Order: sequence, then structure tokens, then C-alpha cells
Amino acid sequence: MSAPKLVLCVVDSLRTDKLEQAAADGTAPILAELIDRGTLIRDCVSSFPSVTPVCTSELTTGRAPDGHWISGMNWYHRAERRYVEYGSSFEATRAFGLFRSLYDTVYNMNMAHLSDEAETVFERLADHGVRTACTPFLIYRGRTRHELGLEGLLRRVALAATFRHATYGPDELFYGELYTSRKVPCKPTLARPDRRDEYSACCGRELVENDLFDFLLFGLPDNDYHSHRYGPDAQPESIAHADEALAELVDAAGGLERFLAEHAVIVVADHAQTQVTEPLALADELGSRWRVLQPNQTDPREAELAVCPSSRAGAVYVLSEDRRWEGVHAGVRERLRDVDGVDLFAWLERDGQPVRRADGDGPPPSGCTVVVERAGAELRFRPGSQATDGRGVAWDIVGDPATLAAAIQGESFECDQYPDGLSRLWAALHAPHAGEILISAEPAYELVDWGGVTHCPGGSHGALHVGDSLGPLLLCGLEPGTEHLRRQWAIRDVAGLVLGHFGIADTDGPHVRAARAPSEVAG
Ligand SMILES: [Zn+2]
Repeated sequence: MSAPKLVLCVVDSLRTDKLEQAAADGTAPILAELIDRGTLIRDCVSSFPSVTPVCTSELTTGRAPDGHWISGMNWYHRAERRYVEYGSSFEATRAFGLFRSLYDTVYNMNMAHLSDEAETVFERLADHGVRTACTPFLIYRGRTRHELGLEGLLRRVALAATFRHATYGPDELFYGELYTSRKVPCKPTLARPDRRDEYSACCGRELVENDLFDFLLFGLPDNDYHSHRYGPDAQPESIAHADEALAELVDAAGGLERFLAEHAVIVVADHAQTQVTEPLALADELGSRWRVLQPNQTDPREAELAVCPSSRAGAVYVLSEDRRWEGVHAGVRERLRDVDGVDLFAWLERDGQPVRRADGDGPPPSGCTVVVERAGAELRFRPGSQATDGRGVAWDIVGDPATLAAAIQGESFECDQYPDGLSRLWAALHAPHAGEILISAEPAYELVDWGGVTHCPGGSHGALHVGDSLGPLLLCGLEPGTEHLRRQWAIRDVAGLVLGHFGIADTDGPHVRAARAPSEVAG
């Protein structure tokens, strides 16, 4: 390999201001060094909904939800007529059944829900002979077959659930008790949400010491748990903890100079977090008027709505039969205007009518317009030519830009409060598994999950709002092209950076894709 090895370190929920605070006060010395020597982009924009399954899919595939197909923490599977739940909380997991949620989160997310056409960096690098590895991370799909692991509690749970599947991952895959590509002296800690970085660090040390990768995805999830529980202001403590995990890699390489001589490093957040204090019980609000599908309801045909909370975002699926469908869609929108904590909601229209999604897996028809409503104002947009956003995508826009607290200056669409707002809403609504109506919560609100749980008072994320959406992208030992530096960075650029580092032309790269995807979808 001519390129140095590359470590992509994903610190879940990392906020730029808290990273800078931890770097400045000396609690995160490795990250401080990386900032000193590298380039810190402070405002890399996340996905919508800005929740980990959606964001990690975008990070690893370079595609937005309409390309990777993962639509939330919780979504309704039209073809299977059931909810998919990726573990919003232990209580939510239990509401849908422990085995079912485990199966969906570990196996189906990668092997069934993530689109085949959205190749991950593990798959693309493997096709070019680059040795890949990852520590526990939600999206791990690669080209190497791994048998189910042989030890531990999760293994027993998996067997009890008749979960026996081999999976496909990077060459070196570490997923706690379930999948381990080799024996390592590391105690799996996946069942302890505040102690998972230690397992990543231990596996990472083995990988560095034994020269087992060219590309390592180094996932550090504990910051997310800590910030949910104690609020975003407590992040410097968990950032220090993440820094200790990075220090294990550095130490294994023989110190910082040697580590950085041999490795380029990207540090990125999947999304940020904001403080929440107010629960938003969307299923209850809508359930007072319509029959909402319950987690283990035996006959889904009796339900009129499926309601899917994804932390600070939500989705409503209108299940009513033909003649009532439009009335229910309009009724839900009317009701949402009066629900405390709903910041904005958006849906697709075509020929002036709300778009009803098919029962299967397909995308919506071409030629749709997105309608977004906030505080009585409305904005309609579709790919076009009138105004260009911060990523160079041109749109035709009708209605009040103040709906997204935006302004059109000359030909430029400026939207600071909802960064990359048009593309993110467009991609979220065009995803095959999207709800018909998507909701983003006001600051301080979090949707109650199907286990009846929120993180209030604490931290959360998921919304289109700037506070949830912008995180750091730190590049050390990589040279981004100058054209990148002029525009709004997004987490879907990271896959292209990784491929580019290894000299793999990303012909369908983020820059090209950002300028072309919406008009392609619109046909
Ligand atoms: Zn989280």
C-alpha cells in the first residue's frame, strides 16, 4: 500500500464546542494534537433524522436515506406490516420483543434493510484489495463472511432466539460476543452502554499492534450515552474517555509521532446533541383520534396510522384504506399544528395531492414536490434552477422561505437554522421506507419512544434543527481538495474522503452526487 493507513474514528454525538473545550482544557490531549496538526471543520452537517442508524449508514455509504434506505430509529415496514425498532431504549426494545429488536439491529439493518445498491466503504475498499477492519459499529457490511461467535451472554440470547446467521463484514470484525474475526484479549462490554469504548480500544490496540488493517473504522459510542444521560454540557468527561481510547491506538503504534507517520486520521460525529426537557407523546396525541398501530398488534389491518418516534424526529404512516386515506392525511396535518413541541412537518405532493406510498419497498413516484410547514408558513420545493443551496444543489422554491428561517439572496438559498435543510428533507421523504409525514421537534422536546421513555432531562438529537445537525469533521494527514473547502461539508462526504485516500476514484462521489441526485430522483 502506498497510502498510509487510515483510521476513521466516529465519536457518537460529539459536539464541536465540547470537543474544543475538552481539547483546550487538557482533558483530551490526543484530540488536541489532531486539531493542532490537522484541519477542523466545525460545521459538518448530519442526516435527517439525525439519529445513529441513519447517520452511520450515510457515513459508510456516502448516500443519504433515499440511497441507503435506513429511515430512523423506528420505522414501519410496509411490506412486512410491522414496526422495525433499532433499540431506542431498553423499554422500547422490550415492547417489540428482545429477539426481534436484536435481529433487526444486528443482522437485518446490514443484511436486509441497508440497500444493496449502497455499497459501504468496507465493500468498496475490499474490492480494491484494501484490508478493512472495524470495532463495534452499527453499519459494518463488507465482503468477508463471519460465523456467529462462540461465547458469552449475547451468544446464548442469540441462540435462544434461533439467531444463527453468519454475516458479512470487513476482514477484521469485532461485534462483542456475536462476531469476532479472531481471538483477542478484550472483554465484550456491549451490554454496558457506558463502557463500550474500552472494548473498541482493546480491539483497536490488537489491530494496530499486529498490523491487521489498512482502513479501520474505530467506533466510540460512549459519548452518546453519557450525553443522553447527563446532558450535552457533560460531554467533556466522555470526550476525555474517547481520547483515552484513541490513546490506546497511539500507544500501540509506539507513540504519537509514529502513529501519525503511519496513519491518517479522520474524527467525525454522526450528529450532535441538544438539551431536552419536554416529552412529546406523538402516538398518544394522534391516538386520541385515530387507531394507531401498537408494537405487537396481531392484525395491523385494523390500524389507521403507524407512528414512529426517532428521538427528536418522527414519522407518521397513513395506513387507512383508499377512500379515507386523504382525509386522514389532511387530518393528521391539521392535528400536528396544535401539538406542542412539533417544530415542522413535511410531506410529498404530486399534482397537488399528497403522495400515498405503495405497500412494498419502492421509492415514491417521480415528479414530487416537498411541502414543509412550520408555524403556519409553508414552503414547497423541488430540484430546479432558481436558488442554489450551500452544497451547490439548485432548487425551485415556492412559498415563504421563512418557513425554514431561510432567505433567498440573489440566487443563493441561505438556511442556517436548518442546515442543508432542503436536501435532507428531500432525501428523507424520498427514502423507500419513509413515513408519509415527517416531523422535526422544537428545541427542548423529544418524542416518547414505544417503551414510554425519553431522555428528559438530558441530551437528545434527531431533529433537522441546527443544534442536532452540525458536528466536527477533523482531518489529519488527509488533503481534502480545495473545492471541498468552499462548501457545506456533510457526513455523506466522508465515504468519498476514505476512498480518495486509497486512490479509489469515487466517480459517483459526494460532490457529483450532491449536484445531481435530486434531479435524478425527480426524473
Ligand atoms: Zn443517541
